[in-house]
Amino acid sequence: MALGLPSRMPGGASTVRELIAAGERSFSFEFFPPKDLEGEKQLWKALRELEVLSPTFVSVTYGAGGSTRDRTVGITERIAQDTSMTPLAHLTCVDHSVRTLRSVIGSYAGAGVRNVLALRGDPAGGPSAPYVAHSEGLRYAVELVELTKSLGDFCVGVAAFPEAHPSATSADSDARVLAAKARAGADFAITQLFFRPEDYFRLVDRVSALGVDIPIIPGIMPITNLNQIRRMAELSGAALPEETVARVAQYDGDPAAVRAEGIAIATELCDALLAGGAPGLHFYTLNRSKATREIYSGLRAAVG
Ligand code: FAD
Repeated sequence: MALGLPSRMPGGASTVRELIAAGERSFSFEFFPPKDLEGEKQLWKALRELEVLSPTFVSVTYGAGGSTRDRTVGITERIAQDTSMTPLAHLTCVDHSVRTLRSVIGSYAGAGVRNVLALRGDPAGGPSAPYVAHSEGLRYAVELVELTKSLGDFCVGVAAFPEAHPSATSADSDARVLAAKARAGADFAITQLFFRPEDYFRLVDRVSALGVDIPIIPGIMPITNLNQIRRMAELSGAALPEETVARVAQYDGDPAAVRAEGIAIATELCDALLAGGAPGLHFYTLNRSKATREIYSGLRAAVG
């Protein structure tokens, strides 16, 4: 399996499923819909800078309660139409009726988007707050997988949690949830951010013990700023290990050194994941390209 980035989707593949089945690794980048014009410019700058790396796909998040619905759909469609990249459209159940969900999936299909990340989404109070489904909506992501699959030939991804979802009763029950999403038709999964490779490999083992072998792509968020990563870890429910904090904190007061150490930590994590057989890497870019590009060069230099 080559580390090299596939140029567009190789071998005529048009979905993440086909690509991974062909033995290729998947390298992808995640973005979020910006709030204003300045943010929009930054997003497109980052997208264009990362386009030259020929990612397998790029994904755009869907805001809580569909708050960014129009922007998410607009950006995803523009990526499909105006760039050489394949978009993966995120979609969440929060505050949407089944009718609305069908209509958003229809808009994606109309724009030629064939890869969808089917998520439950978080309530406004965050990932640990109680989730209340729309009266005519869906309760769990597994139902959105079924709905999306029933509406066309979509390649469907789902979320996975190396440290278990914050409201899951146990790591085993959370693995059963992922297995159920796979049995409902999910083609692949992308994980929440995490920092210890062993958390990822334990998740893969738990799911595989249930007889499920969908590709689980690790989600990577490089540390470029300690306060920012603390906030992101809190929002996602991921633990920020003491040893990671200590490595970065020793450079407190020197932002360039903090950043360099953060990139080194992420590169080591990516190396360990790929060496252990991970089917690719998904980078949370926060709409910036530099850190991701630096990690790529590090990986390429290491593997040749
Ligand atoms: P589910 O799989 O439905 O799980 C939600 C909870 O319910 C879990 O605790 C699970 O264990 C439990 N559960 C599931 N099924 C059952 C069942 N049958 N019985 C009992 N319990 C069950 N959020 C956004 O708002 N927008 C985004 O764009 C977005 N993108 C994301 C991308 C990735 C790669 C990841 C990892 C997460 C993303 N999220 C996003 C966050 C995600 O929506 C939240 O983590 C959410 O809380 C869980 O979503 P899910 O799809 O895993 O839900």
